[in-house]
Amino acid sequence: MVATSAQTQASAVQAFRPPRRILMGPGPSDVHPRVLQAVAAPTIGHLDPDFVALMEEVKGLLRRTFRTGNILTFPVSGPGSVGMETCLVNLIEPGDTVVVCRNGVFGQRMEQIARRCGAEVVTVDAPWGRAVDPEALEAALARNPRASLVAFVHAETSTGAQSDAQALAEVAHRHDCLVVADTVTSLGGTPVEVDAWGLDAVYSGTQKCLSCVPGLSPVTFGERALERVRGRRTPVQSWFMDVGLVADYWAGEGRRTYHHTAPVNAVYALHEALRLLHEEGLERAWARHRLHHEALKAGLEALGLAFVVPEAERLPQLNAVRIPEGVDDAEVRTRMLREHGIEIGAGLGELAGRIWRIGLMGYGAREDNVLACLRALGQVLA
Ligand code: PLP
Repeated sequence: MVATSAQTQASAVQAFRPPRRILMGPGPSDVHPRVLQAVAAPTIGHLDPDFVALMEEVKGLLRRTFRTGNILTFPVSGPGSVGMETCLVNLIEPGDTVVVCRNGVFGQRMEQIARRCGAEVVTVDAPWGRAVDPEALEAALARNPRASLVAFVHAETSTGAQSDAQALAEVAHRHDCLVVADTVTSLGGTPVEVDAWGLDAVYSGTQKCLSCVPGLSPVTFGERALERVRGRRTPVQSWFMDVGLVADYWAGEGRRTYHHTAPVNAVYALHEALRLLHEEGLERAWARHRLHHEALKAGLEALGLAFVVPEAERLPQLNAVRIPEGVDDAEVRTRMLREHGIEIGAGLGELAGRIWRIGLMGYGAREDNVLACLRALGQVLA
């Protein structure tokens, strides 16, 4: 048979073979080999009884990871931003007053989504690189007694600052507000206690401290949040993200109905990643992140690099350091990648060009990565 020109063109395109990288940016982070193996298993139907059983296990493992008994705990089919949007579109109605804490790019994203939901948004601003101040939240809520929801980012990946989620939730509840918390970068890396801290709706991402492939967003909704959803005056404006609809797909055996086609192999990956996390134990995973952060910190400081965030508010899994005077940001990152196979992150938003973000997340939080990064940075900066 004679090949058509389309066939000839297609065969000229080589299969993609990703280069070997050490992912030490703000995410995605290194995926554990067992998780990569899990993704490559044969796809089965998304309503297959064996897949349904797997979904139940994923829900249980996620509850343990979020430290919650919330029934509605499942991975949204989409990246962290879809989890963010899922929490906000379900809990906000047009005309609601919503307080959004902003201390970086992801707080800004929450604000934009809340505005698109038709909310009157009040912002509580903290300098980039600092935690959100619970007293500033208290003052904003005292000035806005109609507020019904408070949203904040627990671990602000754009700066490396961690806010006190428990303190912020306490203030919000004193003012009868629901709490939406972003734990995309914290889950698996530092403590997240959904029930103990009273967080009402929480989302995360698979691509940071869970050592998993990107593309899913674990979420959990507590009873107060579900009551708010049930009491809505208007339908949720997003069909895909309406938790009332998608919950029927993630509901238990016998009640499950088609909603959308789940990314089956990504769910295999998350299952394996959560198994790994709980084989290690959450507390031990948090301690590992802290241990390797301490080593990286000592090495970065020895290289003369200064941290952006004060020590008490610093995330171990996201190390933001100032770019020294006269050093070319892009050149350093390019040489790290090309000569050493190491990805480190650039600054975002108002910190673009001023900082590097060095991630130690999940499977990537390891001694060999710390040493490789310090050796490479030392050579590139020499
Ligand atoms: N929230 C935080 C704190 C993040 O770091 C990110 C991504 O880096 C997101 C939300 C959005 O997640 P995604 O890029 O998976 O949509």
